[in-house]
Amino acid sequence: MEGQELRQIETDVLVVGSGVAGIMAALKAAERGCRVTLTSKVSHRGGNSALAGGAWLVPSDDFPPDEYFNLVMEAGKRINDAKLVRVLAQRAESTIRALRRMGVPLERMGRRYSVVDRTRSGKIPGIVLMNAILEKIEDARITAIPWFSIVELLLDEGRVSGAMGVSRTEGPVTIGAKSVVLATGGAGGIYKRHDNHRRIVGDGYWLALAIGLALRDMEFVQYYPITLAEPHEPPIILYDFPVEVRVIDAKGEDLFKKHGLQFDLNEAIEEYRDRSTLILSQEAAQGEIYLDCTRVPREKWAIHPLNRLEERNPEFRNRPFSIAPAVHFFMGGVEIDEDTQTAIPGLFAAGEVVGGVHGANRVGGNALTACSVFGQIAGESAARHAQAVSRGKLNRNRALDMSRWNERTTVVKELFRQVQDLTSTYAGPIRNAESLGEGLSRISEMEGQLAKLGPKERSMELNEAKGSLLVSKAIMRASLAREESRGAFCREDFPQRDDDNWLRSIRLSLDPETNDFIIS
Ligand SMILES: Cc1cc2nc3c(=O)[nH]c(=O)nc-3n(C[C@H](O)[C@H](O)[C@H](O)COP(=O)(O)OP(=O)(O)OC[C@H]3O[C@@H](n4cnc5c(N)ncnc54)[C@H](O)[C@@H]3O)c2cc1C
Repeated sequence: MEGQELRQIETDVLVVGSGVAGIMAALKAAERGCRVTLTSKVSHRGGNSALAGGAWLVPSDDFPPDEYFNLVMEAGKRINDAKLVRVLAQRAESTIRALRRMGVPLERMGRRYSVVDRTRSGKIPGIVLMNAILEKIEDARITAIPWFSIVELLLDEGRVSGAMGVSRTEGPVTIGAKSVVLATGGAGGIYKRHDNHRRIVGDGYWLALAIGLALRDMEFVQYYPITLAEPHEPPIILYDFPVEVRVIDAKGEDLFKKHGLQFDLNEAIEEYRDRSTLILSQEAAQGEIYLDCTRVPREKWAIHPLNRLEERNPEFRNRPFSIAPAVHFFMGGVEIDEDTQTAIPGLFAAGEVVGGVHGANRVGGNALTACSVFGQIAGESAARHAQAVSRGKLNRNRALDMSRWNERTTVVKELFRQVQDLTSTYAGPIRNAESLGEGLSRISEMEGQLAKLGPKERSMELNEAKGSLLVSKAIMRASLAREESRGAFCREDFPQRDDDNWLRSIRLSLDPETNDFIIS
């Protein structure tokens, strides 16, 4: 591509990522009078928001903001950024009201709101949610570009000036923007067993690291304890069980009872997700584990999730079927302040790509709340910034060698599979120093292989595989540094929580000389 004239777009606010966080940011910035460009590397209904179960934890009269604040801090084992949690507690209710005005069918059920499928279309709640908010994007005349992957954030004298991206149809495109909002989601896709969208592989983390930003809490990866693990079935998450459902081993023993989790299964998963995951991971390492729904009466099979299971395989009514934990959510990510400002002027971040809100673990239903609240704040802040500054220069040379968008070549597919393999093997739910050390040396070997690849393989997808490897390395580096267990993080060689030494976050930034992390 050397010497080729690139297509260039100018906008006030560029939003990278069109999940709930990105869309909320785009709508707010447009409402404040800005020209907004919204990009997604897949379709606008790609990403994790479209897969969500649609539960939102929100304070109310019966669940006061202080109680909500304490619950979130307790689940995060007190290493959350309390200032962010305070903002969340204050703004969650008004954000839910705004979503309802936008036409999102949200109804309160106890401490949570749920997206309800009023038309009984059978769509999963995340799709119902995305359909409602995407309609507003069209009304707001936001330029929305799907299949457009941002590969580099551009800076001018220390502040953001835009981004370089690769479009599936047009190749490389430069976007000049006065403000940029990073809303690229988490990185579940870098593991072998996960329930995320397959292209959610941590782009925002490496985009941020590449321009000198620090990430926090990357060792905290949340698993969902019960996902389908039958051969040839996707690892879909299973929740909202009737009382008759049990988790059993091959001998038929109830595993939650065996380990003293004498609660209703739903409560155990929502309130004791860390413990449930550890118990089921340890049991799954000994042999297959199963969900037994055979005692559920016929009439309850019409309700989610059993209706979905029966659709996949009617046999699931008559026999226990295999389940296993799978990676679900990333607690760590980019550091922001209460206005979602990162350490780089003009660059804001919101949604799963951000660290600090959830600390060491997240309460069920609190991701969508955080994405929508901080998405709105990011839109407000980005608009304010864009209206106050002049345009910066675009320095766009570095990204040219990754300008091709060709679905993954065999070599790149294999590299990506290796990244998933080693992340799952060395940064799984239970970690120790020896295996983390081994994982990190395998990563250096892979970095060596990647550096040798010739121009034939260079593409946006190769860039993504390299980025995923860096995210995997960040998880392992932070995991090795934290010599304790806390929240979703378990070190078998340091099984106790150690508040004297570790009631704090681990921050990672990238040393550009060595491509290794500096820990603080
Ligand atoms: C199966 C499942 C069920 C869940 N259920 C719930 C629930 O009930 N309640 C709850 O609170 N949470 C739930 N979660 C978590 C929650 O859905 C996610 O944390 C949340 O939707 C993340 O939103 P986001 O906007 O940050 O990112 P996403 O929705 O993941 O969107 C990321 C966007 O970034 C884009 N992108 C990524 N990289 C690039 C790039 N380089 N260039 C351009 N675009 C890029 C993607 O294409 C996508 O548009 C669930 C998660 C899963 C996987």
